[in-house]
Amino acid sequence: MSDKVSYRNLIVVLGDQLNINAAAFDEFDPLHDAVWMAEVEEESTHVWSSQSRIAMFLSAMRHFAESIQAQKWKLIYQKLDDVSSLPSLAECLTKTLQACRPQKIIMTAPGDWRVLRAIQGVARQESIQLEIQPDRHFYCSVREFKQHMTGRKSLRLEYFYREMRRRHGVLMNDEEPLAGRWNFDSENRRALSASTVAGIPTPSQFEPDEITREVLRLVASRFATHPGSIKNFAWPVTREQALDALRKFIDERLANFGPYQDAMWPDKVWLFHSHLSASLNLKLLDPREVVGAAEQAYRCGKASLASVEGFIRQILGWREYVRGIYWTQMPDYLDRNELEACLPLPTFYWTGETEMTCLRDALKQTLNYGYAHHIQRLMITSLYTLLLGIDPRAVHAWYLSVYVDAVEWAELPNTLGMSQFADGGLMASKPYIASGQYINRMSPYCKTCPYDPKRRTGDNACPMTVLYWDFLLRHESKLSQNQRMIMQLRNVKRLSETERVDIRAAAESIRRRLTPMTQ
Ligand code: FAD
Ligand code: SF4
Repeated sequence: MSDKVSYRNLIVVLGDQLNINAAAFDEFDPLHDAVWMAEVEEESTHVWSSQSRIAMFLSAMRHFAESIQAQKWKLIYQKLDDVSSLPSLAECLTKTLQACRPQKIIMTAPGDWRVLRAIQGVARQESIQLEIQPDRHFYCSVREFKQHMTGRKSLRLEYFYREMRRRHGVLMNDEEPLAGRWNFDSENRRALSASTVAGIPTPSQFEPDEITREVLRLVASRFATHPGSIKNFAWPVTREQALDALRKFIDERLANFGPYQDAMWPDKVWLFHSHLSASLNLKLLDPREVVGAAEQAYRCGKASLASVEGFIRQILGWREYVRGIYWTQMPDYLDRNELEACLPLPTFYWTGETEMTCLRDALKQTLNYGYAHHIQRLMITSLYTLLLGIDPRAVHAWYLSVYVDAVEWAELPNTLGMSQFADGGLMASKPYIASGQYINRMSPYCKTCPYDPKRRTGDNACPMTVLYWDFLLRHESKLSQNQRMIMQLRNVKRLSETERVDIRAAAESIRRRLTPMTQ
């Protein structure tokens, strides 16, 4: 890293801001300005990041840096393995500012509250102006999201999503949604069959090039004790590769995305999902080009409206919605714990070693690939932590560690709000809870499991089912205020006193058997 010269503006680019068209570059003058990027230890250790997540960020950053250098722009880049490398963004930026005293730091708004505060602190301490440009990557600005919130007693994705469809003219026929419907959820809940699974096209896989191979070697030596594996690393790490993955998804999988988006199948990692979340979150892809390509596929008859709407809802709806929640609720959001859950995360979340087939499959695949699809995250791994009563901050730290797409603005509301109900219903109108019977409907996992999803007591009672009933019993009084819980609570009222005692005892025995993580 050579930074002994003086610059006019220093353009700070973070690991999840790899877009040359970002607002921070609008006024870039190659004669007087420089780009600053840094790989720092802290970003891999503030949560115990998996090897695949670390490799994803480092490789994509190094490829982006290469494209900056190819334009002959000045670049100050700290590599993690530089001899003089500093451990945190704040320390590294301070050193550069002291060496080259730019008039101004310019950056696109960071995605993370923690990083924003760190960079503001450095600029203040060094008395250098910090200009934060809006992040144009997103459809909805934080200000627009605040306007959407104004005057509403409660937030609901559906209303936000409709507003976004109207405002951006997506799947619309003037003021009306195409085919007169906003929502095709009821058509998008099919389970898979063996013959459908056999026909799933192979996903895009990108052979690591020399830059990625160097990163993989670095991660293997420096982060050897971190969770997960990089053996299967084949993620897109450049814009060109991400565009390639998008094209292949639209051509080969989108038509079946909707119907099978909730389904699961043992040892099948990719199914009909897009696997584009990391490319989007690192800003290798613009959400408008992803949504536009999906809408175009419908308009030219490649995919049904139901499937395309199901996909677009995830990006134009959920992705924008969780970002709005994050930036309007932080920093207090991190401490929300509505259900007062306080148990430590079970050790097997870092190894996948459990006899529960559904959890083992979702955890092993997470650790081996840095990926699990939404329902595996929501209705298996985080369902179990919710039902057990694990401290939401420990659950949050795990989700932020293990996935290649993990960035706090996307991860935290999904984990704390949607999956753990720790925000008391801000994000989701009721807790996402289900017994093993739901997993049995959506997958064949239970067929090879030692437990029986129908049983809530007894030796082979399914832990998901036991804990589902125990959850309803433990939170009966709090949840009874929630209209949407009436049906589930009605079933609890039918339980005899003996059944209640047996369920509670079975749940306690599951909790006693867990080994806490002491990392
Ligand atoms: P697809 O199923 O193909 O969906 C298409 C795209 O829609 C995704 O690429 C993603 O960009 C977007 N999307 C879908 N659902 C959501 C959602 N609920 N919130 C935000 N965007 C969504 N997503 C992240 O990008 N980063 C995270 O750190 C993250 N953590 C999560 C933690 C939990 C507990 C849960 C329940 C969900 C989390 N998600 C996160 C949302 C979702 O699970 C992933 O975006 C999705 O599984 C990524 O796989 P995919 O690209 O194949 O998505
Ligand atoms: Fe999971 Fe229960 Fe089915 Fe086993 S029986 S796979 S634990 S839901």
